[in-house]
Amino acid sequence: MQVSEARRFQQLRGHLSYLKLNDAAEALNRVLDQARTERMSLTAALERLLEIEVEATEARRLAARERFACLPEPWTLSDFDFAAQPGVDEKLIRDLATLRFLDDASNVLFVGPPGVGKTMLSVALGRAAVEAGNRVYFTTAADLAARCHKAALEGRWKTCMNFFAGPKLLIIDELGYLPLPEDGASALFQVINQRYLKSSTILTTNVGIADWATAFGDATVAAAMLDRLLHRAAVAGIDGPSYRLRGHQSQAETIRAGVNARVS
Ligand code: ADP
Ligand code: MG
Repeated sequence: MQVSEARRFQQLRGHLSYLKLNDAAEALNRVLDQARTERMSLTAALERLLEIEVEATEARRLAARERFACLPEPWTLSDFDFAAQPGVDEKLIRDLATLRFLDDASNVLFVGPPGVGKTMLSVALGRAAVEAGNRVYFTTAADLAARCHKAALEGRWKTCMNFFAGPKLLIIDELGYLPLPEDGASALFQVINQRYLKSSTILTTNVGIADWATAFGDATVAAAMLDRLLHRAAVAGIDGPSYRLRGHQSQAETIRAGVNARVS
């Protein structure tokens, strides 16, 4: 490399670093070498260099969205065994997985007893949404209520509401598993209400819709919440066998078979 060209190289690297295109700056030497040996056009070399920066930025943003989302498990939809859960409407789930429901701010309700895959399906949809570039946040109803309660005590109610209004997709897991604190139902209603028609919420619950009024203590709040949630929603009732218990059953059978084998 001639002296002037070496200086120009340093300047170019400097420009890239100044613009915080650090991955491109780091790859510059390699791409220039490649351009020379492969006789790439100027356009092709520039495209290659910027592609490296774009890919690195996309990977960083995806990682940041993944961290923010707090999805409790790495589940994806391909992990879900539809054959093992006849209670689930596969066509509906596949349709939800296209993420079209995010575009019209529709909600999704998974209703069913424990162990049928409600959390798994919400997490899988959440992951698909994260991968498609959306801000997603996963929480449980009990956590949401506790955080809102704490925020109210500390005078941060508005910040807390803004936080829950932010994500393109909010997943609220396990509504009805634990009794909500007295202001919990109202906090949940406010979160649902401010997201209504703006962004999607996935809610999982073991409480059948007909029983919401009794489960939340306050029939008016329950009715108002259901009104917002169901106005534009897909309701997936999963009334099948518990996958968790299936595991236990086969485990129990294995143990039993082992014991019988030793006895006989
Ligand atoms: P729920 O939220 O309805 O109580 P989960 O989604 O937590 O149930 O599922 C319980 C466990 O069973 C999880 O470990 C989950 O991965 C597994 N599971 C449930 N349904 C299926 C399924 N159809 N295919 C594969 N794993 C499943
Ligand atoms: Mg669950």
